[in-house]
Amino acid sequence: MSNWDVLVIGAGQAGCAAAWDLAAAGLRVVVISRAQPRAKPCAGGVTEKTLARYRFSIASVVRETVSTLAVSHTSSPIRHLSAQARFCVMTERSELDALCRANAEQQGAVFCDTAGLRSLHQEANGVSVQTREGQRFTAPWLVAADGANSAVARMLGERHLRGAMAIEGCVPRKNIRDYPPMTLDFGAIRGGYGWLFPKGDHVNVGLYVWRHGVAAPERSALQRYSLARLGAQAEQVAGYPLGTWLPNTRLVNGRVLFVGDAAGCTEALLGEGIYGAVLSGQMAAQALLSSEPEIAYPASLAGWREELHQVTRLGQLFYGLLPISTRLLQSRLGATLVDGFAQGLTLGQCKRQWRGAQLSKG
Ligand SMILES: Cc1cc2nc3c(=O)[nH]c(=O)nc-3n(C[C@H](O)[C@H](O)[C@H](O)COP(=O)(O)OP(=O)(O)OC[C@H]3O[C@@H](n4cnc5c(N)ncnc54)[C@H](O)[C@@H]3O)c2cc1C
Repeated sequence: MSNWDVLVIGAGQAGCAAAWDLAAAGLRVVVISRAQPRAKPCAGGVTEKTLARYRFSIASVVRETVSTLAVSHTSSPIRHLSAQARFCVMTERSELDALCRANAEQQGAVFCDTAGLRSLHQEANGVSVQTREGQRFTAPWLVAADGANSAVARMLGERHLRGAMAIEGCVPRKNIRDYPPMTLDFGAIRGGYGWLFPKGDHVNVGLYVWRHGVAAPERSALQRYSLARLGAQAEQVAGYPLGTWLPNTRLVNGRVLFVGDAAGCTEALLGEGIYGAVLSGQMAAQALLSSEPEIAYPASLAGWREELHQVTRLGQLFYGLLPISTRLLQSRLGATLVDGFAQGLTLGQCKRQWRGAQLSKG
């Protein structure tokens, strides 16, 4: 049995962000994470606002920098929206996670790879977990950063919530007809979009569906999309759910704080989740340095919770009004959006800025 100040379950973006802050504050933190046979499915697009949140530079894992977004709908031609500066960078998720882990280790966080969790018990003063290998860990607090299919949530009897779904694959550059810019194709799938993310030696291609049950992003649909847009089939295809349910869920269960996709911190319109993961991981860590983490943590995430509410409503409107909403996005609205992203704004902040500009014009 080993005793710690905080146990973190999951070494993804949320877990590493929490571990970095906790270790930097001098707490003894162990990150217990399931060793993955392959990287977590993720297109690795990291927006400017996320870059501003990292405690270190991620320049060493950046494959491409992006200042132009191509937007299309099956029924309208592609429109290129150019921002005045970079608004996003492309990374490979395995490389990004390895970098974040190395930085957290440098701060003093300890990482323990496991095949999974066997048990989890909460008592008045703490939490204990046992891994499948039989190792036991205890601490006064636990941070659940184990993704959209959180085992911790299951073990605590939390209701299983279904959110957005996405499927992705890679096409080597040598197989591609025309190397594309960062592209979002609305209408490539019902209730969602297809994406092309250029990464230098390959293009990441994927399909996103904004809400469970609207459509199933299947392998065959992805291959059709990949063939149509890139002239080649995708390799290493994998799908995964996204945690897009925060407005309707709890962040705390006793001495467990949920972060990232385990908490549903991903925005539902486009499925950007790395920002919410890093933000919530850092906020949970800061809350754990206070005297009442169970109160401080939800309070510090209240602004993001409100934004996710608004973005979910926007998603309903946007996908309900396709293809008209794509045409709107291809207009001045889209240009304002990419410029707002380049300034490090969130979707909600961009929307407010656009509204303000419309009102002052009127
Ligand atoms: C196909 C796809 C493409 C995406 N593209 C983007 C994108 O381009 N940009 C963006 O911002 N977002 C994207 N997202 C969303 C983003 O990937 C997630 O929101 C983000 O990864 C959430 O981070 P996390 O740390 O909360 O969870 P995860 O990244 O899922 O990490 C969970 C961690 O927990 C570990 N774990 C899981 N189960 C256990 C267990 N039982 N015991 C111990 N450890 C466990 C895992 O090994 C992993 O290390 C995409 C999602 C999908 C599915």
